[in-house]
Parts: sequence; structure tokens; C-alpha cells
Amino acid sequence: MSFMLPEKTSSSRPSLIREVQERGAKIPGFISLAIGNPSAEAIPQAALKNAIKKVTSENLLRVFEYGPTGGSVGLMELTKQRLSEKKKLPKDRQAFIMLNGSGHGLGVAARTLCCEGDEVYFEQFSYPCAIYAVRAVGGKPVGIPVDKDGMIPEELEKQAKSGRGKYIYLNPNFQNPTGLTMPLQRRKEIYRIAGEYDLLIYEDDPYGDIRFSGTAVPNFKAIDIEGIVLFAGSYSKTLSPGLRVGYLYGDEKYIKPMEVIKNVMDGQSPLFNQLIVQYTLQAIDYEKHICRICELYKKRADAMIRALEQNGPSAVQFTRPEGGMFMWVTLPEYVDIDTFYEELFRQGVGAVKSEAFAVDGKKTGHAFRLNYTYAPIEQLIEGTTRFAKAARLFCRE
Ligand code: PMP
Repeated sequence: MSFMLPEKTSSSRPSLIREVQERGAKIPGFISLAIGNPSAEAIPQAALKNAIKKVTSENLLRVFEYGPTGGSVGLMELTKQRLSEKKKLPKDRQAFIMLNGSGHGLGVAARTLCCEGDEVYFEQFSYPCAIYAVRAVGGKPVGIPVDKDGMIPEELEKQAKSGRGKYIYLNPNFQNPTGLTMPLQRRKEIYRIAGEYDLLIYEDDPYGDIRFSGTAVPNFKAIDIEGIVLFAGSYSKTLSPGLRVGYLYGDEKYIKPMEVIKNVMDGQSPLFNQLIVQYTLQAIDYEKHICRICELYKKRADAMIRALEQNGPSAVQFTRPEGGMFMWVTLPEYVDIDTFYEELFRQGVGAVKSEAFAVDGKKTGHAFRLNYTYAPIEQLIEGTTRFAKAARLFCRE
């Protein structure tokens, strides 16, 4: 038997984040800054438990039976209302589907929008699941060069002239992995190019609510007069990632076919989990809860920055995110990244190599993604200090 996996499958590597977790588990005292989990303190456990009680005290038959593919109407209404009030996103002629986490939308969109050989545009370093979702359907992820404001419009336009592009994937608020936010002017330029070259924009915004400094930038969806933006949101970062409740939202003409594809993939997302989220939202002051998360993460991000500033060499550069969960730390080009990565394990700290996020396998970069939300603050400081000390061994200045 010599079964060969197709290239579209074999070219997607196992997660480097998982590799850090697995190797780290065997090292005593290891501190992982690799995984993008929310802090345990950010999960409103008591409210979620009460919501579970409420779901189970009702007529459970409706959660035991098959339900609508689109999801809980009550949760969709609550979500729509908030998006319209807080973020000024359009409500009319927009369709919604609830998903098993917003990440599920990446596969649904790629299957619906992409054929073999179609191009999808990404920032040079981007969310691996979004890249792999395109590869899995035979599409071609293309990395577009970036500057400090994100995807460079002129570079996008050059590539879009191929005429093979289908959509642009962007995570414009507190991008995973860099933590950077795209300014409004840049969003407008990219939006104009998308319209001109018949490209949709997939706006992946799981971190958008977690802004702990600076001023909010309008979403692509908020400037979407042509109806070309698909907006993906999530309750993973503000309530619970394990419940797997997210959503996709956009013009009916794109979302309705996606509902058909979703039906093929999983029939429906569990109503049980959606009701837990719905009842939690109805019981708590959600905005206050988000403010608490922001305060918590600001302290942690500040602590990470301080630890890098105090202990790291000057040659190391890092982003200063205004929200979200990640910081991007770049080492000088002369540092051998694989040797440095091994040194991190020796020092007892884990971070994710930029290679994990590279759209183009050849441009793997010289950076690491560090998460500041999950490890308790003392460990966060100790882990970042270990990272900085390892960097001192490798940097000349
Ligand atoms: N998009 C981005 C950019 C992410 O970082 C994540 C989570 N790591 C997701 C989507 C998926 O989140 P979820 O499926 O839990 O909503």
C-alpha cells in the first residue's frame, strides 16, 4: 500500500504551538508563552454555570433534537444588536450564521468561495488556520508584504492584477501573530482595491473587543457600502473558547450559500452551547465584563514590555499592542533562529517561531509570537525574562 496524501494536505504542517506545548510538558518548571488561551480569570465561570443550569431546567428536547443550521435566533439577535450599537455595523440585508467558533468560518468560506488554483491574499505572517483552510480546498494563499500598518496596498494591487484572486483575509485588530492594528486610512485603501478587483474581504475579528489602550478603529464591515465584507466574530476570547461559539455575518448572497456548505460540514452548531452563551449575555453586564478583561490584559502586556525592556538586548524589537493577546518580538537577521529556539527550551520558556505564521514557506522571518494573557503574571514576567536573557546570548548589542 503506498497511499500518498495530496499536496494540499501534506503541505499543512502540524501546529508549532502544539510542538512547544508537548516539548515543554517534559521540562520541569517550563513556562509557555505560546498558546493563545484567555486568562482563566477572564472566563465568567459562575455566570456560565448559572446559564448551564437554566438551559438544563428548560424543555431540553429542543437541544436534543436537530436544530436550524443557522443557529439560535435569540443569540443572533443579541449579537446583531450589539454589533450595530457598539461597532456601527450594518444590520439590513445581512445574514448571520452561528459557527463552532469563528475559526470554523475559515473552512466554510474557503469551501464556498475558492476553487483549485484561486488566490487568497494574506498579510505575510498570518493566522495559520486561515492559510490552511485555503490550501485544503486547493486554493493558493499568497503572502502580501506588510509595513507597520499591515498589508501594503500597492503590493496587494500588483498581485490582484493576476485576476485569480477571490478574497483578502485580514485580522485588522490586534493581528495574530503581530498584535498590530491596521489604521483606518489603510483599511480604506484596501477596501477600494477589493472593490476594483472583485475581491471579497474576510474580516476576522475575534480580538476586536479587547482594546486596552488607544482609540477603536472602525471595522471594514462598518465602511462596507458595497456589501463585500464577511465579518467573523467570536465569544471565545470574552466568554469561553471551549464552548466553541462564533459567527459569520455578511451580505445574504454570500452567507446563504455558506449556510448550505455548513450544513454539509456539520449540520448545525450545538444549540446547547449557543444557549449557554445567550443566557450568560442576558444575565451579566457584558460591557463591564469586557472592561475587566481589558484591565487585566493591560497589566499583563505592560509587565511583558517592562521585562523585555529591562532584560533584553537593544537589538531586539517588539510591537506594543493596544489590545488582543499577542506581542511580536523580532531578533536581528544574524541570529540563527533554530538554534535560538532550542536555547529557549534550555532556558525553560516557550514561544512560537514566526515560521508557524508564514504564508510563504521561504520567508519564515526572524520573530517570535509571545502571548501575555494565559500564564499567571509572575510566570509571565519570569518567562519573558528568560526569553530576554536567551536573546542577550545571541545578540551583539
Ligand atoms: N481567528 C484568529 C485570528 C484567531 O487567532 C483565532 C483563535 N486563535 C480564531 C480565529 C479562532 O477562534 P475561535 O474559533 O475560538 O472563535
